[in-house]
Amino acid sequence: MPKGLMQDRPLLISSLIEHAACFHPHAEIVSRTTEGPIHRCTYADIHRRAKQLANALEVRGVGPGDRIATLAWNGYRHMELYYGVSGMGAVLHTINPRLFPEQIEYIVNHAEDQFLFFDLSFVPLVERLAKALPTVRGFVVMTDREHLPECSIPRLLCYEELLDAQTSDYLWPQFDETTASSLCYTSGTTGNPKGVLYSHRSSVLHSWAACATDGLAIGAGETALLVVPMFHVNAWGMPYAGAMCGARLVMPGPALDGKSVYQLMRDEKVTLALGVPTVWLMLLQYVDAERLTPKEDLCLRRVVIGGSSAPRAMSERFETTFGAFVVHAWGMTEMSPLGTVCNLLPKHGGYTLEQRLGIQEKQGRAVYGVEMKIVDDDGASLPHDGMASGHLLVRGPWITCGYYRDEGTSALDAAGFFDTGDVATIDADGYMQITDRSKDVIKSGGEWISSIALENAAIGHPAVAEAAVIGAPHPKWQERPLLIVVRKPGQALDRESMLQFLAGKVTHWWLPDDVAFVDELPHTATGKLHKLRLRELFRDYRLPHSR
Ligand code: AMP
Repeated sequence: MPKGLMQDRPLLISSLIEHAACFHPHAEIVSRTTEGPIHRCTYADIHRRAKQLANALEVRGVGPGDRIATLAWNGYRHMELYYGVSGMGAVLHTINPRLFPEQIEYIVNHAEDQFLFFDLSFVPLVERLAKALPTVRGFVVMTDREHLPECSIPRLLCYEELLDAQTSDYLWPQFDETTASSLCYTSGTTGNPKGVLYSHRSSVLHSWAACATDGLAIGAGETALLVVPMFHVNAWGMPYAGAMCGARLVMPGPALDGKSVYQLMRDEKVTLALGVPTVWLMLLQYVDAERLTPKEDLCLRRVVIGGSSAPRAMSERFETTFGAFVVHAWGMTEMSPLGTVCNLLPKHGGYTLEQRLGIQEKQGRAVYGVEMKIVDDDGASLPHDGMASGHLLVRGPWITCGYYRDEGTSALDAAGFFDTGDVATIDADGYMQITDRSKDVIKSGGEWISSIALENAAIGHPAVAEAAVIGAPHPKWQERPLLIVVRKPGQALDRESMLQFLAGKVTHWWLPDDVAFVDELPHTATGKLHKLRLRELFRDYRLPHSR
């Protein structure tokens, strides 16, 4: 076959920041720092300092493929590491600080990280772990000399001193685009975390999908608040996509409570915010408690919700109280993470809000680059009729083919598809809707009940702060749904009124057999409901008519 006559330029992460520094040099990166104040810089500053960082790592013997870890919130220094480390050909390993310390120890040792960069908040954690991390040659605290902590961490280095000692004279090396760029471990609820190793090519292609109109539709006119952490799937790829299109980025640092997020949205005139439902719950509760008027105070136009299902009631609240459109999205660490985005089609133009919310509840259509199908237990494809639900399989250039240091064992089936572990339907317009994790579906008399659909319906009750549904053993039906509810502060709600509220909103045989009330629900390190832990907590629970 004859080759095309096009230039063969590798898709490298360094090219993103070079582009931003050249064509969007004044676009701002605004960060709430761990030290306290708001910090402002530009893509040009990030580029310059990322080069200083690359020089600092090079003089310390860091070379291609070496792993450099971070334990850090969203902020400009973390962004410099994104570009400095990957740009020089090393691998940026972002660690989720909410994992158990033993898991962090495991993954640093598994990745054999050479340097660990960390925010001031994590000094006690690093003090506790340092001795158990033999591969780490230096612990770099991401601050200046003035804020250097008194601590017992060995081989301690100061970030600003590292940079000050270097010039920004550095040429980004050119290499094969399939080279590893960054590493993120999934926080699986069972077993050891597994490493997903992204490449330069996968990260750049993913950024294009994020910027596209039917992707997340971001551009230079956007001010995007990254509530989603940079330690969770590269903040959904936003630090890369932002540089690609010159979007203004706002980084909240460690302050993710409702008040701090609201203030940032207001003061920085945020137009787009991205995060998981648990942080939006905190924001909505704050707005209610303070009787705020977001429509008047804020410029928010869109909220991207992913990581867990965006309940209908949440999309409605953002629409009516904030005047903001919820863009529901789905993906996973293994997918960089973007898989589907719920944008509307022309035919939805005349829809009422009620009808539109019915679309927004779905996780959306596949972005180009993601092939997607649903299959039954035998692997046979199921129809896209919005009814048949099956295992969701995906294939594409930013989807993993195997886990780090697990080489040889492919994560894919014979046709190259990756099983997401999710169960979903796909309708005739291509909208995918997650009904459950395959581990969490409730099997009642041979039929499946969607715990997500029940949770989303329950959260619509004005007295419900959060809801989870698990399968409880049943002598006749094998399993039946048990609804576990956290009431909003000061609200009264009992079993009967909860069940009455659900009646008519879900198929009658899906109605939970019982409702339990708790003070709080357990969450995973990425803010999802911890269903495994819930099932353990309710192991001895017996449903009323099975007692
Ligand atoms: P993680 O790798 O931690 O990002 O988790 C990925 C998993 O989160 C997916 O496989 C889904 O089970 C779940 N998930 C992500 N986005 C959504 C969503 N919009 N709705 C429901 N579940 C989601």
